[in-house]
Amino acid sequence: LFLWNLVQKPFEVTVLGTSSATPTKDRSPSAQHVRLDKHYFLFDCGEGTQNRLLDCKLKLQKIKYVLITHLHGDHFFGLPGLITSMSLFKRTEDLYIVGPDPLKPILEALIEEGGGSLSYPIHFISSKVTEAKELIDHRDFSIVGIPLQHRIPCTGYVLREKGSLRKIHVEACEEMGVPVSYYESLKQGLDYVTDSGRVVENEMVTFPAPALRSFAYITDTVFDMNIVPYIQGVTLLYHESTFLKEHESRAQETFHSTAEQAGIIANQAKVKQLMLGHYSARYEDISPLLWEAQTQFNTTLLAVEGLRLELSGEPFVSAATVPQF
Ligand SMILES: [Zn+2]
Ligand SMILES: [Zn+2]
Repeated sequence: LFLWNLVQKPFEVTVLGTSSATPTKDRSPSAQHVRLDKHYFLFDCGEGTQNRLLDCKLKLQKIKYVLITHLHGDHFFGLPGLITSMSLFKRTEDLYIVGPDPLKPILEALIEEGGGSLSYPIHFISSKVTEAKELIDHRDFSIVGIPLQHRIPCTGYVLREKGSLRKIHVEACEEMGVPVSYYESLKQGLDYVTDSGRVVENEMVTFPAPALRSFAYITDTVFDMNIVPYIQGVTLLYHESTFLKEHESRAQETFHSTAEQAGIIANQAKVKQLMLGHYSARYEDISPLLWEAQTQFNTTLLAVEGLRLELSGEPFVSAATVPQF
């Protein structure tokens, strides 16, 4: 297990905003920053996201993929400011924005009426899906869109790490006489045969491929068991929990979920870890949301601004760190 951790690439989720609808004294609207090795993602971009990125010492310009779930303001009102700042800082690299179709003309109008153009190209990818669909297929990861049930069209996202090659045990290779030129074949799992016909078994000179990790970002949605197959076994599930069970009828009316319902989804999908968020401003103390979800799924934690999680294959609550602003 120790060796596995050594060879795992960084996969970090940083919470930037946990509030539904409006900011509160302690909470910002929805946004989460994700790093997977050398790839940087932003899931939703509520108002104040740039400030939270600064608080967390995360670099704006490194973000290459922005994924917007839907066009309620608490999920994208930070985006015009973000893309403008990228241009003011003279970005030249491409930016990919995945989101609802109307987002493109909205941003284009803002840029044009502001009298300018951007210093870099933006590529729009439509998030309109009627069933789970792969939206980005990269050599190192994939992103699948999942249709959610909300008051307006809304898409959840699952980011999955790719690349399950075995890792080379260099000292063992040198000892067993396996040449460097054969390393690529070793990574694929092949055995090596020496000139004298001796077989060096792959397991003796390689480490197992690290477990592939995944992150599901599910917000905003009414309680919907149809999403369970699409998020089965994910390493970290972020699922909205706007309300407590005592406000379940309000959740139903507004197409949101309760903490208990988020727990039921996590339990059914057998995820490794559940993270709650998108809290109604009515709850100053959010711990009852945690207790309620834990009646259904024990390995649950609360999203808090600044919380950073390093995803491993195991439940990883203890790895969480909350910086003090
Ligand atoms: Zn929302
Ligand atoms: Zn919404």
